[in-house]
Amino acid sequence: MQILILPGDGIGPEITAATLEVVRAASERFGLALALTEDVVGHESLRRYGTTVRPEVLDAARAADGLILGPTATLDFKDPAHGEINPSMFFRKNLDLFANVRPARTYPGVTARVGAFDLVVVRENTEGFYADRNMEEGSGEILVTRDVAISLRRITRHCCNRIARAAFELAARRRRHVSVVHKANVLKMGDGMFVDECRSVARDFPAITVDDFIVDAMMAHVVRAPQRFDVIVTTNMFGDILSDLTAELSGSLGLGGSLNAGARYAMAQAAHGSAPDIAGRDIANPLSLVLSAALLLAWHGERRRAKDFVAAAAAIEAATAAVVAAREVTADLGGRLGTASAGKALAARIRGA
Ligand code: NAD
Repeated sequence: MQILILPGDGIGPEITAATLEVVRAASERFGLALALTEDVVGHESLRRYGTTVRPEVLDAARAADGLILGPTATLDFKDPAHGEINPSMFFRKNLDLFANVRPARTYPGVTARVGAFDLVVVRENTEGFYADRNMEEGSGEILVTRDVAISLRRITRHCCNRIARAAFELAARRRRHVSVVHKANVLKMGDGMFVDECRSVARDFPAITVDDFIVDAMMAHVVRAPQRFDVIVTTNMFGDILSDLTAELSGSLGLGGSLNAGARYAMAQAAHGSAPDIAGRDIANPLSLVLSAALLLAWHGERRRAKDFVAAAAAIEAATAAVVAAREVTADLGGRLGTASAGKALAARIRGA
């Protein structure tokens, strides 16, 4: 498997280095023969090449089997005409990574804000309220006058159908329950179509139970009793917000693994941002990116029917649970390790397991 590594901004290089330590340990133990190549995106690329993402990097991503993208300083990148492109949006759009899969589960040893739970948010990743990527050309945001802005939301039957299918296929391998989250009471056409497509796909999965929740009420339900959820499927922005909540409920946003997957490509990306407030201090928690990389290996293993990749991903998850329980983690999870030593501790567990 060929993986393109793009460390990104802020804490990106630190957590990527720790993640690679873990991925290399898994590759050695399970004989995965991973070929890892590295390039730059974000500020480093802007400084060197005048753009945050070069077309050559997209070519390299297309030639690879998957990507590991560190967090990037997206808020800094305001003017695409001057090379300030949001790398996360760029790859999601150009590689058609339509499914953002974000598991959230509690780990023994972490003080979660609620009881034990294990759920996955499956978020549509290519349209919705994301006006910077939902148009063929140009932006979906219009400044009508200096004081009036319009942001367009795009919902298509095709994208609703394929994200619903991804959610039901995942639920079939889990506890066989899908919850559809929407705002169809207000967004009657867009979210009405989303709910309709989810219900239509559900007919192909008779063994899976389905319920649906209006997004605002969902915030209360998921905080009150996250145990009742298995797979949650929703549109782009609702999923972005809801998955940060579920990751934090599990103990920390730093535990939020995230995979962006399409029909051909997949990209591991931490759920959190570039955390400039703690960059360069060796205190960032690398687990979110590590767990995302594990999701990438599992995705590849499932598509290629390669059991060693699925086993490697499971070993990374088991080793994560072990280091968390032993408090061999960074300060945000109650440990005393720095980013680099947290990566080394996890890699040692994988090598010794
Ligand atoms: P953030 O997620 O970077 O940080 C929020 C808080 O969580 C901060 O206090 C930070 O220190 C902490 N935090 C985040 N990751 C952590 C980790 N691994 N270990 C320990 N603590 C961690 O959100 P923000 O500050 O709003 O955004 C910073 C930049 O990241 C912005 O430019 C934003 O646009 C960008 N961003 C990028 C992505 C992405 O690349 N996928 C996602 C979200 C935000």
